[in-house]
Amino acid sequence: MLNVEEALEQILDVLEPLPITNISILEADGMVLAKNIISQIDIPPLDNSAMDGYAVKSDNVQNASPSLPIALRVVGTTAAGQLPFQSLVDGHSVRIMTGAPIPLGSDAVIPFEETSDNSNELNVTSNNEVLILHPAFQGKNIRQAGQDVRKGDKVITAGTVLRPAHIALIASLGKSKVAVHRPPVVAVLATGDEITKPGHQLTKGMIYDSNSYGIASSIKEAGGKPVVVGIARDNVDSIERKLFEIKDCDLIITSAGVSKGDFDIVKNVLKKNGAIQFHSVRMKPGKPLAFGLLEQKNSSVPLIGLPGNPVSALVAFEQFCRPAIRLMSGHKLIARTTINAVLDDTIDNPDGRRVYARVHAYKKKDVYHASLTGEQSSNILSAMGKANGLAICPENKTSINAGEDVTVMMLYWNAEVF
Ligand code: AMP
Ligand code: MG
Repeated sequence: MLNVEEALEQILDVLEPLPITNISILEADGMVLAKNIISQIDIPPLDNSAMDGYAVKSDNVQNASPSLPIALRVVGTTAAGQLPFQSLVDGHSVRIMTGAPIPLGSDAVIPFEETSDNSNELNVTSNNEVLILHPAFQGKNIRQAGQDVRKGDKVITAGTVLRPAHIALIASLGKSKVAVHRPPVVAVLATGDEITKPGHQLTKGMIYDSNSYGIASSIKEAGGKPVVVGIARDNVDSIERKLFEIKDCDLIITSAGVSKGDFDIVKNVLKKNGAIQFHSVRMKPGKPLAFGLLEQKNSSVPLIGLPGNPVSALVAFEQFCRPAIRLMSGHKLIARTTINAVLDDTIDNPDGRRVYARVHAYKKKDVYHASLTGEQSSNILSAMGKANGLAICPENKTSINAGEDVTVMMLYWNAEVF
């Protein structure tokens, strides 16, 4: 039976980053930039004021002090968005607002607080003069054209995961669209005779479909676009019909029907309509797990068949589907971060699999600890809901005892867990 790394390698081997698409910058956060961003402009475009105050010639105010202020004639006002005052001569100043272009001939801005105009109301002397109370060096409070970005600069490198600051930066260059790797469209299909769509009446013997919803939101969190296909019944015809309804997707994720029961036929459907590469992995939970390629009209689509038990489905999603989605989205970093923690409870591993225990990791006196969040059976979804991480017991250990170190794969950081 394959171990987790071997199984993941087989999946990742058939995948590659999806083609480049140009999308609105409003849609692009979290996506991977596919082409370098080169600026066509200087930012800021003009020398402009960093403060509300008076634009002056610094030579004129070198000896200014509160006891010996220097009077300058106020010859105009410039606000942000206006053109620069054309030529400032000795003895003159221009009232100027933050972001407004610096008058030609001026080389410093004295903030209002350092003048007689120390309220925000126009407060110059009757003959239209302002008193400067402090000297200024050349360039004081002036933001130079191109100080942030110069025309021709490479501002963001291809491969960067776009965050709010990058989106703002791209907008500041005047671009409304950006080239990213297209996020994968991922179809989600639940299987099982007992499965009912939430929002409908539950009849005896039936249970609600939780997998489709947990998987769809995991796909979104990983950066993919989920398409929930619905529920197929436990027969070849029903599963085939649903699978062939799926159009234009990059990955199919099914749940259930991959273990050894009488009605576990997803594997058979995959064998019949494509190729199956493996159907179990040495892990717990998540041992029944199928991967193969489903032949569609003109192409073959990778299909990951997750187990039916809700915890197994989500844990196996983390190990295989999330990295697959991230690789297809162009991410270089496809693995979750792990931490070392002191285990508060014991994890047993009787049959030599890789165990992923649901834990709450927390910091106590600068040391991470991890506590089991409840019963560890693969149907106990409530314990998964309380977890912010998965503590890993390797195949070659029969247990990790309370007080020993454990590696925790973090699913959420700084999340409040109740
Ligand atoms: P199976 O892999 O079909 O043997 O299913 C294993 C367990 O998972 C069974 O108890 C199923 O009822 C349960 N299960 C299967 N599909 C779902 C689903 N979509 N939502 C919640 N539980 C499910
Ligand atoms: Mg079943």
